[in-house]
Amino acid sequence: MKVTIDEHSGFCWGVVRTVEIAEQTLEEAKDKEIYILGQIIHNPKEVQRLEQKGLKTISHNELQTLKGKNAKVLIRAHGEPPSTYRLANELGIELVDATCPLVTALQNRVRKFYLEGYQIVIFGKQQHPEVIGLRGVCNDECIVIQSEQEALEKVDFSKKTLFLSQTTMDKHLFHKIRQLLEAKVKELHSYDNYREQLVVKDTLCRAVTGREEHLRKFAQENDVVIFVAGKNSSNGKSLFKICSETNPNTYFIEEIEELDSNWFANAQTVGITGATSTPRWYMEQVKETIEKLCHQ
Ligand code: SF4
Repeated sequence: MKVTIDEHSGFCWGVVRTVEIAEQTLEEAKDKEIYILGQIIHNPKEVQRLEQKGLKTISHNELQTLKGKNAKVLIRAHGEPPSTYRLANELGIELVDATCPLVTALQNRVRKFYLEGYQIVIFGKQQHPEVIGLRGVCNDECIVIQSEQEALEKVDFSKKTLFLSQTTMDKHLFHKIRQLLEAKVKELHSYDNYREQLVVKDTLCRAVTGREEHLRKFAQENDVVIFVAGKNSSNGKSLFKICSETNPNTYFIEEIEELDSNWFANAQTVGITGATSTPRWYMEQVKETIEKLCHQ
């Protein structure tokens, strides 16, 4: 049986950058305590590895407790709302900003259109950390939707509107909602005016959407696919969906212990892949375990 790790899998460049900043900050820490606000990425294995190096994960409520301590606090790739920066400043806490540059660009775009008076419509999950950051830059005066139905119910089509997306949402659904918004705005406004009424920015991250085509091919080429990701990973859910639609013999695992030898009974080829937050080193361990399981 041949076991292959998807050569396009592993951390996206935004996560690589965040992890590098975290490691560098830990190395230079000297006598300072290094904290991160929320889990660094949605992958418990990588969180564990960095915690062993001294990184401490804290919640937003715990930020207050660091006042007067000799500490640095990292901002993770998802970004934070302006209120977090203000609070840290008031408390005299030093921040290390590891927000993914794509997320920063997205926040700047929301801020610009909000200040120009646009209705902000975000395709995303209300409580996802990236969306909490986006909501913060427009004082929560925005509409967050996840479906065409919600778009119809919540969007005011008489207003000038900006439509964009959380970076890791489903590409096909984003474009379906875009088409619906365009059709509704064209109904209400003349064709010449509709482009002024509705500005659409495709802010889906190419590190996620760009993997789709390859992932389908990879899932087709293997008898069984093992998809490794943290259960809370948003892009993990989207990419797993693509794999399982293409190959029904796709299994989602977070922990090596979840592997079941029965899955490989009739397989000649097994492919291992994962989310943009799945570390390569963990996929190597999954590969070794499958090889052992199948030679017992
Ligand atoms: S998925 Fe894209 S937006 Fe998110 S951290 Fe990676 S590169 Fe940045």
